[in-house]
Order: sequence, then C-alpha cells, then structure tokens
Amino acid sequence: MTPQKSPNEMTAAVLAGPGRVNLETMPKPKLSESDVWVEVDLCGICGSDLHLILEGWAAPGSWQGHEWVGTVVEVGSGVTEFLPGDRVVGGPVASCGSCTHCKGARPSLCDKRGAADMDSMRGAFATYKLTKSQHLLPLPAGVDERAAALTEPLAVALHALSQGRVSGESRVLVLGAGPIGALAIAVMAYMGVKSIACAEPNEIRRKLALSVGAHRVIDPSQLVVPSFAEPDRVVEDAVDVVLECSGKAVAMEAGLAQLVRGGTLVLVGAGIETPKLNPNRILLNELIVTGAYNHDEGGFVKALELLRRGCLPVEHLLEPGTVPLESLIEAMRDLASGQIAGKVLVKP
Ligand SMILES: [Zn+2]
Ligand SMILES: [Zn+2]
Repeated sequence: MTPQKSPNEMTAAVLAGPGRVNLETMPKPKLSESDVWVEVDLCGICGSDLHLILEGWAAPGSWQGHEWVGTVVEVGSGVTEFLPGDRVVGGPVASCGSCTHCKGARPSLCDKRGAADMDSMRGAFATYKLTKSQHLLPLPAGVDERAAALTEPLAVALHALSQGRVSGESRVLVLGAGPIGALAIAVMAYMGVKSIACAEPNEIRRKLALSVGAHRVIDPSQLVVPSFAEPDRVVEDAVDVVLECSGKAVAMEAGLAQLVRGGTLVLVGAGIETPKLNPNRILLNELIVTGAYNHDEGGFVKALELLRRGCLPVEHLLEPGTVPLESLIEAMRDLASGQIAGKVLVKP
C-alpha cells in the first residue's frame, strides 16, 4: 500500500541493512527559519544508490535519493525565494563561493566541501523532504516533471564532458551505458560530437546507448588492450576521450589503453576496486587521467535549460511509468542485475 500523504508526517524508505529498507512513518520535523518542507513528486534511482542501499555502503537509519523534483508545502520564516505550491528540483550541494576553487569556477572542489556524508543522508526516497532554500532550484516553466528528475544526473554527465573537454570534433568512447553514460551519449549526440562509441557488456544497455545517439556499440570484451610490455602502442580506433562510467577496474584499465596520444581518461563511475593503470603508457603517450565529481558551476541551470528545450530523448533515458516506494528494492535489484536499463523514477 502506498503511504497516505499527510503534510504533518512523512514516510521514508529507511535503510535497515544491505538490501533492506523499512517504510517508516515519522512526524514532520520542525522547520527552522531557512527550511523548506517539500512534497517529493518523483525521485530517480542513481547508480550510487545501488551501492549505498543494496550493498549497504550507507548506515542503517539513513535514507537516500538525491535526484528529485517536488512541490513546496511550507517555508520557514526566513525563506523569501519560495512559496507553497512552487515546483522545485533538488539543487547542487553547497559550496562556499570564496575559496580558490569556487572562485575558479570549480565548486565541486570547494575547500569547505564536506566529506560525502551518506550516513546522515535524509534523502528523497520519502513522501516529504526537509531542505534548505539554497539547496533548491525553481523548476522552469515548460520542463516536464519526469524530465526534471533527470536534472542532477544530467548535471553530472555535463561535468564529465567538461572534464574531458569534449567538443564537436572529439572522438569519444563511453564505458558503461548506465544512466550517466546514457545521458553523456545523449548530450554528445545533441552537440553533434563526431564519433561516439560505447562499450557495454549488457545487451539491453547497448540498445539504450544506440537509441540515445551512440554511433557504435561493442561488448567490452572486444576492446583491444595492449599488454604492459607495449606501453606506447596506440590501438586502432583510438579515441581522444574515454568517459569511464562503470566504476569497474577492468574498464578503467581498458579505457586508458583506448586513448590516442595526449588523450584524456575521465573517471566518472565510482568503484572500490583498484585498477592497474600502466604508468609508462601515461608517461610515453602523455595521457591525462582525471576525475569528474559532482557538477560544473551552473551545471544544474544548464541541465534544466537542455531539458526545457527538449534537446534530449528523455523517454528513452527513463523507464516507462513510475514505481512506488514499496517497490524501491525490487527496482534496484532489476537495475543491478541489468534487467532494466533506463533511469527508474520512484513516486513516493
Ligand atoms: Zn545521482
Ligand atoms: Zn569553496
């Protein structure tokens, strides 16, 4: 049964242990001056949620969900930017705005950023969410709420492209066609990027990659990976940029070997296995290995603008329909096992 919605209480999918959540109902928290009480309309399931919930990386008692769109129900006395009834999306994590990185337009590197604290997370796999006005963005008119739920992962994909300095002339290989890989492909197709390849072991996801704009898909087992003894050998079909979106060590290793001289490997997918990257390949071919964490400055606004203009094949990127909070774990298992490929939207 879907929990009854009452603005004076909330129901959340609270982590009980790896792969287990309980739907717990609790009273509405007290709003401070700067708080906003939002009814969650939709929340996407992120690849990181699979780690945090199914694998139990997050602490019991937390609840996840950071890709959400909702409607303001009540605002604290100091909030002037939002009114009840306003449609909003969850915005970027806070950055200080005054450190060297923030001033250099790299808020994802903010000196004052906290450690990614998933243990005390009170996310949007819940009927309501308490948040601060500075963590919200207004939903622009003309953005459909399903599309709006893609704002955060789209901002992540845009940051990966910036980190790879991808331009129309780039030849790019995406490793892994999960939600971020698929979004990156869709944006590159919209940009008219010259060559977009995708390596993905799962056939359903290879089809997704093609449907959102990849020119070529392959199984990663087909990638030629020169041995450690041939560090400067450049493979046929080498690319300027590899976006590693799978978080798998073997993909990171293969990705480094797909680059032209001077090419860039961007690590986008989080993983816990340590890859063996050939240092002599990096040295001899002057390769750049970098990461992409969170978002560009203004990345959410750019993402919302792309969604508003209808530039992306949103319905290919999303699974049809929505799932209720009760089916969160089931949907996560289907995503983890590769039975479904697109972004799943939870309707709490
Ligand atoms: Zn996410
Ligand atoms: Zn800062």
